Amino acid sequence: MGNLKELYQEVILDHNRSPRNFREIADTPHHAEGHNPLCGDNITVWVELDGDVISDASFIGNGCAISKASASLMTQAVKGKRVSEAKELFKSFQKLVTGRVSPEESKDLLGKLILFAGVSQFPVRVKCASLSWHTMNAALEDAAEPVTTE
Ligand code: ZN
Repeated sequence: MGNLKELYQEVILDHNRSPRNFREIADTPHHAEGHNPLCGDNITVWVELDGDVISDASFIGNGCAISKASASLMTQAVKGKRVSEAKELFKSFQKLVTGRVSPEESKDLLGKLILFAGVSQFPVRVKCASLSWHTMNAALEDAAEPVTTE
């Protein structure tokens, strides 16, 4: 367990320090804002669609290390996926961080994202980890209202 914990921290810290896809996508209509008032995380997510494929995904935001690392890893995970696949990922990620499936069960689908399994023990952190996913989902649906975890 020690090694997994270290790896978990290392990946989270790395993505927090240098988040991937941390930029705006200027030309896409698909974007949404998300807020997690409990922790103070704020995020905007952009997705660019090519037919039903997510050709690009990005975010800008400020918040805790978990929310930022989760958003960073999410943009990497959904890029190149079909919208339906991204929504499946979202569902599986939700199940993982709420402790409804084990990391072993979700490993094949979620890959690196199983590192967030540890947050299931901390309800506040579940919201930090899932904020970006809820926001991406809203971006895909062109939601006008900001997403809030409350
Ligand atoms: Zn947070």
